[in-house]
Amino acid sequence: MSFSFDTKNELCRLPVQKLCCARAEAYGILLYCNTFSSTEVRIITENPNFAARLPKLFHRAFNLHFDRQPEPGAEGKMVFQITDRKKLDHITNLLGYDPRQNLVLHVNFAMLEEECCRASFLRGIFFAGGSITDPLKRYHLELTTSHAQASRELDVLLRECGYPPKSVSRNGSFVTYFKQSDQIEDFLTMIGAPVAAMNVMSAKLEKDLRNSVNRRLNCDSANLDKAVLASQEQLEAIRALQTAGLLEQLPDKLQLTAALRLENPELTLSELAEEFDPPVSKSCLNHRLRKILELAKGL
Ligand SMILES: [Zn+2]
Repeated sequence: MSFSFDTKNELCRLPVQKLCCARAEAYGILLYCNTFSSTEVRIITENPNFAARLPKLFHRAFNLHFDRQPEPGAEGKMVFQITDRKKLDHITNLLGYDPRQNLVLHVNFAMLEEECCRASFLRGIFFAGGSITDPLKRYHLELTTSHAQASRELDVLLRECGYPPKSVSRNGSFVTYFKQSDQIEDFLTMIGAPVAAMNVMSAKLEKDLRNSVNRRLNCDSANLDKAVLASQEQLEAIRALQTAGLLEQLPDKLQLTAALRLENPELTLSELAEEFDPPVSKSCLNHRLRKILELAKGL
């Protein structure tokens, strides 16, 4: 199953308790669900755990039942609906809206003064309009609504909570999103999904480790390339001296160095230094090879 699905299931395990928080969570769901108007509430979900939570939550928050809800054990797209005028008025009243006003769906911040309620409200928004990408692929958490005003005010709220989000509008939807792993971790922890937050953190650690190993490998292979190039250059110089009949006239140490290099073209400088009996230092070998290169250049 998807990372979003798992995260929402984790959130569904949180009990529905305090009235203030139940109301705030339901409020978040309403602002980000399919339809929330003065004539209809319609929430559509395919998540069975969320479908099980919704009636409990709305009963606690508003003391009412949905007019239409799926049979227990239903699968696929499940629709929760309220169309009863009295119930709708009751909800809009409790949320601090005037039932006669056209719901512009601004956020009533008076409902969100307590920290517990703010977290519950954001959880509701995530339930109804949120999704999160598998953090092993990339870091992306987004909250989508069709209501521009609600989206703008969510931005303000998140900024106040210390998580400045980014936002974009996409085909008539308004998307608030996070791209940084630490912001996503904090957001998930706040809304009550510490396990998902931990998974984001460990995905980040895993990716960082993999990147540093790759960097290391690239660096090693770059060094290897350099060593191969150097070795080729030395071999050419030695052969040039050979052809010119100068190799035998070189001092013994240089002759020995040339011979060992010819025998071992694949060795790195430090490996080649070990081939001497007794071994010579790397800088000593480097010095001798440079001398050979110089002599060949002088030809
Ligand atoms: Zn609360």
